[in-house]
Amino acid sequence: MSERKVRVRFAPSPTGPLHIGGVRTALYNYLFARQHGGDLIFRIEDTDSSRFVPGAEEYIIEAFQWLGIQFDEGVSFGGDHGPYRQSERRDIYKKYVQQLLDNGKAYIAFDTPEELDAKRREVENFQYDAQTRNQMRNSLTLPADEVERMVEAGEQYVVRFKIEPGREVVVDDLIRGVVTVNSSVLDDKVLYKSADQLPTYHLANIVDDHLMEVSHVIRGEEWLPSAPLHVLLYEAFGWQDSMPRFAHLPLLLKPVGNGKLSKRDGDKLGFPVFPLEWKDPQTGAVSSGYREQGYLPEAVVNFLALLGWNPGNDQELMTLDEMVRLFDLGKCSKSGARFDYVKGMWFNHQYLMQRPAIDWTPELDRILRANGIESTAEREAQVVEMMKTKVIEYVDGENNKKKRNISFVSDLWPLCRFFFVAPEAYDKEDKFVRKNWKDTTAQEMDQLVGVLSALDDDEFTVEQMKPLVDAWAEATGARPWNAWRVCLVGTGQGPDMYELAAFLGKQETIRRMERAIKALS
Ligand code: GLU
Repeated sequence: MSERKVRVRFAPSPTGPLHIGGVRTALYNYLFARQHGGDLIFRIEDTDSSRFVPGAEEYIIEAFQWLGIQFDEGVSFGGDHGPYRQSERRDIYKKYVQQLLDNGKAYIAFDTPEELDAKRREVENFQYDAQTRNQMRNSLTLPADEVERMVEAGEQYVVRFKIEPGREVVVDDLIRGVVTVNSSVLDDKVLYKSADQLPTYHLANIVDDHLMEVSHVIRGEEWLPSAPLHVLLYEAFGWQDSMPRFAHLPLLLKPVGNGKLSKRDGDKLGFPVFPLEWKDPQTGAVSSGYREQGYLPEAVVNFLALLGWNPGNDQELMTLDEMVRLFDLGKCSKSGARFDYVKGMWFNHQYLMQRPAIDWTPELDRILRANGIESTAEREAQVVEMMKTKVIEYVDGENNKKKRNISFVSDLWPLCRFFFVAPEAYDKEDKFVRKNWKDTTAQEMDQLVGVLSALDDDEFTVEQMKPLVDAWAEATGARPWNAWRVCLVGTGQGPDMYELAAFLGKQETIRRMERAIKALS
């Protein structure tokens, strides 16, 4: 058999914002498609109208746009296997449901929800299957003309898959290897509902994968239990020879403790589980997103790529092109991947540092404006250069005080206010102030003002200031730097003093010094 063209799909249901695990699934599909010169399809699985959430589809498209994950065909991307929204494919599914009915691979069932509930109460662990279907109201137990009459009369029914018991169903998974399940444990899944004339997920998914010529189904582990049913459906249609290869990706696990990652973990520990901010159209509740939190798309992609796969060496930082080259489905792990959000911040730090300072300024400017400060991109970029290698203190989700590198542009703000706003008051109780402001300090600062005044405005640079101040300090034995910092910053923060003074300029530097001298004497 000749090698089949690689065609993979990402097929979300528009039931809300896309979970970060879904982003990882899409990313792996993308890497696999690119690597094999194949196609990546974007399909919307919206056959469950009760779970439809307005805006979800647009959200998902925007998220991938932001992340730089490009689709080749699908909803909003075009292509010749459409329509790609399942709710627009009703007629197609009807034809295939009929085919299964005609071949005796499926049957019509009239049991009402009440009848099914009664049965569940009566029989422990009731399952609609080969054992029980003959006790129910369906086309296997009712006379054919009666079934016909009921359907004509518009009685509601579902179509169920008739699973033959006692068969070993083999799922050959590229990540998990061969998984075998006995068909007797499977139930006669509903494939179609007359109520909304729509198929269920299982039927639509199989029919579409077949018609869209999907070669590989790469999806989350939560779909593994459906895989045996899907294999049987391919057989029932006679499509077993073109059945896609399966690859079920490992679960994303909580950062701490056991179990799979949930939104609650994010809320508790303070990290997003959605790519973009999401406002629930019903409740108005807002969930944070990676984009709005200040993550860079390339950092998110790199972080996610390594949750469940690694290139087999210690390399962590990779461009998308490198990932495409190195990715290997066969090297994905079977066991769950712990969602180490601190590592995610580390990735953001790495990528942020690669960006020139000027790229930080739109975001920094937005923050400054929100705090009533107007500046220029050029001056903001100078601040970035002075402060980007600082370490900040923060409180983690478990209330521990920790330190980390600057990972977001917003980390800068608490560190850089004084560049733009002079200290309002000088706090004599501040530890740094107390330690560094002595009885003789005011006099010393006066002298320093005198030294600095010798420079013209345009000579107020690090290169010209430093030799002058150093010479004065040496000659007099003064150690002015910490007190000078008190004058300009108000406390023990900030960059190199000469850089800071040069940034503030002669007038502002001297003005702050004179105010401090007055306030602290
Ligand atoms: N609609 C399913 C989902 O929401 C698709 C599962 C699959 O990829 O088969 O994830």
